[in-house]
Amino acid sequence: MPTQILKAYKVRLYPNEDQQVFFAKSFGCSRFIWNKMLADKIDHYKATKTTLNNTPAQYKKEFEWLKEVDSLALANVQQNLRAAYSKFFKQGSGFPKFKKKGIKDSYTTNNQKGTVAITDSTVKLPKIGHINAKFPDKINGLIKSATISRTPSGKYFVSLLVETVVNELPKTQSNIGIDLGLTDFIVLSDGSKVANPKFLAKLQDKLAREQKVLAKRRAIAKADQRKLSESRNYQKQKIKVAKVYEKITNTRKDFLHKLSFNLIKNHDVIAIENLNVKGMVKNRKLAKAISDSSWSSFTTMLAYKAEWYGKQVVKIDRWYPSSKTCSNCGHLLTKAELPLSVRTWDCPSCLQRNDRDLNASINILNQGLLLAKQSKTVGATGLA
Ligand SMILES: [Zn+2]
Repeated sequence: MPTQILKAYKVRLYPNEDQQVFFAKSFGCSRFIWNKMLADKIDHYKATKTTLNNTPAQYKKEFEWLKEVDSLALANVQQNLRAAYSKFFKQGSGFPKFKKKGIKDSYTTNNQKGTVAITDSTVKLPKIGHINAKFPDKINGLIKSATISRTPSGKYFVSLLVETVVNELPKTQSNIGIDLGLTDFIVLSDGSKVANPKFLAKLQDKLAREQKVLAKRRAIAKADQRKLSESRNYQKQKIKVAKVYEKITNTRKDFLHKLSFNLIKNHDVIAIENLNVKGMVKNRKLAKAISDSSWSSFTTMLAYKAEWYGKQVVKIDRWYPSSKTCSNCGHLLTKAELPLSVRTWDCPSCLQRNDRDLNASINILNQGLLLAKQSKTVGATGLA
């Protein structure tokens, strides 16, 4: 059954000088109106204890230059600010923050009957026209919105949100349990392991080196009593660090996309642990391994791809003792019997030798299949 989804495509843009000026203005106006509206909301609340419902339009008289940019960009700021407030009140997220120049410079516009469009080599945007672009994928479907951004290293991108139809992938009659590894990225219940990619470790070393150089240049500028913004060497190095950082982010994302897609393609039920990553990251020993391996973005990708392609992801309660249970006979070890350092153990009951991670992933699979059977979707997906 085909499903209609909203898919984001990231496209590199190559704006000429005028277009760069227009983008800079648009980023600046979006940031300005966000900060202005947020500050006024805060002041108004302090004075009256009520919420101020301000709109970008009411600022255009005082700040005429706001009229020079795409008005939808400003309307989207209003919407994003409203969403940030609602997240703060309803989901307990942090209070909306003020935006700083050079950090996440971006603006969003919407497609109104062809105001956003693509050709083979350009993206057309409201008020500015066609921008040279390089497309990584073929894009089919109705473009809903476009978010233009500039990275700290100076690259421009547009993220196009496109209505796309995806077809379900064929069922494989194969199911899999996944355990988050410590030495490996993941360990699968069929005995295979997926290592943390080596190039990531290399890039991380490189990042550490470049950051050291940056710190040195900062110290030199300080010793010479020069502003960092006026120190050319410091600025050059800052861009270098940003580039390595961007490379790490992109390479990691790429790795996770390919891995999650292959798992969804090859299996019908995918059982994973619902880990409390935030809680675990506080534990310093595990922190690096976990944040590096990006467990939470991986599970998010699995979940939405399962929905797109007609597969099922089952999340196992994080209190389920997947490591301490023998996958052969169900014998349960105590916490003291299985410290983190123990990688293999012999079951005292059935004598099976258990590899810690493999045993956990088999338990996760079994538990996942149990839950999948209980859930209503089983009949629909033919897993019963
Ligand atoms: Zn056993």
